Amino acid sequence: MRKHPAQRIYIPGPWRRLWDRLRGHEVLVIEFSEPLPILVVRHPRTRRGAEAAESLRTAWVQLLTVMEPDPREVYADVLSALPPMVMVRFEERNAGGVLGHACPHGLESDATKRLQSETGLPVGEVDLAYRQIAEWQPRPLASLASGAEATDSGELRYRVALLTVLFHELEHLAFPDREERQVRLRSDAFYEAALEAGVRAVGSRYGLDH
Ligand SMILES: [Zn+2]
Repeated sequence: MRKHPAQRIYIPGPWRRLWDRLRGHEVLVIEFSEPLPILVVRHPRTRRGAEAAESLRTAWVQLLTVMEPDPREVYADVLSALPPMVMVRFEERNAGGVLGHACPHGLESDATKRLQSETGLPVGEVDLAYRQIAEWQPRPLASLASGAEATDSGELRYRVALLTVLFHELEHLAFPDREERQVRLRSDAFYEAALEAGVRAVGSRYGLDH
């Protein structure tokens, strides 16, 4: 599904070992193709944490290539302005009750700063609260589909929600001065359109049986 050959970014090996020092967390590196940044997903060392990271990986490398609307087109301006690598700090819940947060430049966590110095690449940072995202249902799929479809679509909705919140935060990261209202308008429209398209095409096309 790659439109362009992947432009490989060389990542020196030693930085991967840094994770051995991060107690209680594991890391999943998701590399895809330009214009997408490399995602370094740091998640709690729990079954739910690993499952959430895996859902994001599936959404990023599979769902994203077949989605309507294509997030690479919807968010083309964001993707072209992002650093080549983004640290996604996954936590079950966020103390502030928000679904996600984009870390202002210069205020990144120590882990992100180390990653930046060890790779020599600019690295952005966002937080995502995966349990809160799972519970977040601004427009329940049930209102868009029959009951049977809605049941089958639970994992799809979750993956679409993960992508929606991630792209929302990536927009804040790329354009810190952009107003919340503007960022929210785009992510709400994206979420709704993606769910509606998903309801029509739910199943094999989205690889839900994998
Ligand atoms: Zn926001």
